[in-house]
Amino acid sequence: MARDVKELFDLTGRVGVITGGSRGLGKEMAEGLAEAGASLMLCARREEWLTPTLEEFRGRGFKVEGMLCDVSKPEQVQAVVAKTVETYGRLDILVNNAGVSWGARPEEMPLDRWEQVLGVNLTGAFLFAQAAGREMLKRGYGRIINVSSVSGLQSSADGPHYVGYAASKAGLFGLTRELAATWGRSGIRVNAIAPGFFHSRLADAVIEHAEASIKARSPIPRVGEAGELKGVALFLASDASNYITGQTIVVDGGRTIV
Ligand code: NAP
Repeated sequence: MARDVKELFDLTGRVGVITGGSRGLGKEMAEGLAEAGASLMLCARREEWLTPTLEEFRGRGFKVEGMLCDVSKPEQVQAVVAKTVETYGRLDILVNNAGVSWGARPEEMPLDRWEQVLGVNLTGAFLFAQAAGREMLKRGYGRIINVSSVSGLQSSADGPHYVGYAASKAGLFGLTRELAATWGRSGIRVNAIAPGFFHSRLADAVIEHAEASIKARSPIPRVGEAGELKGVALFLASDASNYITGQTIVVDGGRTIV
């Protein structure tokens, strides 16, 4: 008989790493996985957001550890994966969420900013998938979620311009497909989420620019709200999506279909 739906979404005994889990969308997705029973390792560069989030989560009874880490640095990525396995004995779920952006017209984009954005958003996701994937391959079980963006699907021709961000987020679709195809037979599923616009430290300036058009054009005519991403992350992290790999779920109020 098929498993009960509560069982399919249950993450009790599972261990997840969420990059950029200290605030914003990463924090919300971490909360969702923890509410479903997962033990977590959160990583981010700065303590000022990471420490309060760890305290808040522990106060709610979640099993959560944290580590400072820059996802673009291979040795720091490896250290997070090693610490996760040392602490919890396994690694089942990776959410590649850490991301940065830089606004500039293409003709004015400084090379060092291009390299930073690609280094965090795309190379960082690859490095974490590689390090976590090696652990997952040992046990024949893994779920990787790459947090892309509608910016990987649509241009920002009306501005604000973010050529490096768009390229990095489009690159994540290729990374997702390639890892899913390569590791599918080894029990590792790899999918992507492409959020539209959600309030955050990263997105607020862009939302200020785009909100009128979001309201005018989207079938669901508003910015995304708190709580509207964590269910999607839980779905892809859990056994509820066991026959899905290499896919992208767009969470944008339908904006990209019009
Ligand atoms: P945010 O509030 O700025 O959060 C970004 C997170 O990533 C923070 O925890 C940040 O912590 C961490 N981070 C940044 N650079 C890092 C690095 N090099 N190494 C490790 N951690 C790093 O932004 P957000 O909106 O929640 O964005 C989260 C993800 O969602 C990003 O990938 C973003 O592209 C994507 N996204 C967001 C939206 C939106 O509307 N908000 C839409 C589409 C996609 P530190 O700064 O301390 O490192």
